[in-house]
Formats: sequence, C-alpha cells, structure tokens
Amino acid sequence: MNWPEFHNSAVILAPERLVLKRGRWRRIAIGVRYGLMLDPRGKPVLIDTGYGPLATEGPDRSAMLKLYGMVLGPRLVRDELPAAVLARHGFVPDDVARIVLTHFHPDHVAALRDFPSARIVASGAAWRRIAAMRGHERLRHAVFTELLPPGLASRLEPIEERPAVQAPLGLGVGWDLFGDGSCLAIDLPGHALGHFGLAWPKRDRPLLYAVDTQWLSAAVFGGRLPGGVARLVYADEDLMRESAAKVRRFAEAGGEVMFCHERVDA
Ligand SMILES: [Zn+2]
Repeated sequence: MNWPEFHNSAVILAPERLVLKRGRWRRIAIGVRYGLMLDPRGKPVLIDTGYGPLATEGPDRSAMLKLYGMVLGPRLVRDELPAAVLARHGFVPDDVARIVLTHFHPDHVAALRDFPSARIVASGAAWRRIAAMRGHERLRHAVFTELLPPGLASRLEPIEERPAVQAPLGLGVGWDLFGDGSCLAIDLPGHALGHFGLAWPKRDRPLLYAVDTQWLSAAVFGGRLPGGVARLVYADEDLMRESAAKVRRFAEAGGEVMFCHERVDA
C-alpha cells in the first residue's frame, strides 16, 4: 500500500436537490468515504474516520444527532469500517499513529473514540473557534461534541504548524504532512470550518482528495453547485465557490480529483 486507499463506511440517502443544482427531491444513495495510508515509518494513518455506530445507532445520542441521522439515513457498511479494514491489513486500532481530520462533521469524526492513542491532525484555527462556541453555535456548524473524544485538544496537531510548501497544478501553498513532500494538506474553505483536502504530488498523476468541497463531482465539473437549501449547510458559500474553482483548475491541469461522497448503488 504505497498510496491512500479509500473505503465507504456508510451509504446515506440524501435528497438530490441538496447536493446538485436543479436536482430532484427524490433521495439518491451516496457513499461516505474515509482513507487509509501509511506514514514514512509504515504506521497507518487514517484520513477521517467515516461514519460509525456512535453517530448512527447509539442509544444515548442527543435528539439533534438523531434528527441529523433521520435527514440523511446513514446505513453502515460493517466490513468497510476502519477497524475491519485495518485488521485486513494486519493492524489493530492502537497501531494508528495519526488521524487526519479534514473537518469536524459527524461523518468524518464518528469513529474517533475507537482510536484513543492516535494523534489528531486538523485545522488549529477551526478547533480554536469550535472550542470557544456555545452549544447551539456548534450545532449550526454540525459539530456534535458528543462524538469528539475527551482530551482531543491535548492530542491535536494543528495542520498549520507543518512546513508550507508549493503544491502542484495551481493548488497554491500546502502543508507538508510528513515532511517528505509525499502528502500535502490543501486549504479548501467554505464547506465547513477549517475544511482542507489532501494532495499527493509525487504520484504519476497527482491526486487531490477534495473531500467535501462538494458532495458530487457533477456539482463541481458540471456547473451544478447547489444553492437553495444547501446554503444551510455551507459555512461560507463564496469561499466554497472559490474552492470548487480551485479544484476544477487542478483537474483541467491534468490532476485526478476524488471527493468523499459519490453516488453508489443503493
Ligand atoms: Zn462535511
């Protein structure tokens, strides 16, 4: 495993109108990805955690988290959850050195508690803002404290403290995750507080994991960025549009782009 591999932790049923301009109100099946890669020492590093039982079926979930689940109807793909995938590679959860959190939405943090010894690489600026928020402000940003492990702050490694290096194909400056130029964090603001993607510039064809810049590639590449009800979800719609344009330029320059959510068979 030289490069990241991605797995679908769950399938959600989202109204098409929420994720695609001129989409219909019928629900479409969409995957919820997370990634797995190895650091230079060969230790596993997760890229988000995907959905997990704590977010989708925990009996003690708050009313708001239950409501969030009802809107999106996530169904877990059990044998694709991180612990199962790690086991197939011969790893146990404690082997995970780091978890790169691209942002703090439930479908990216839900399994954090399964990895109590992993360091957490995330936007320090976003974390400081979230930590200072009142409960209702966090909910407005779809941040559910109940999914975040206690002591997260002491395990946090702010992405901004990594060396800044030039990223390929017009992505601007990135933060060098491992200090060897193999994987760069790319600022892609707009979808959520502190949202960033990851780029692998040394691949034959550079890859950008653009996470939730948009939910469907058709929105970015087919000129169908959703407005309307989707505006309730964006942290900043103007920044989202700029980030989508950045991703589009990267693809036009020859880069490969992948998002967290794409349509799957139900
Ligand atoms: Zn998100």
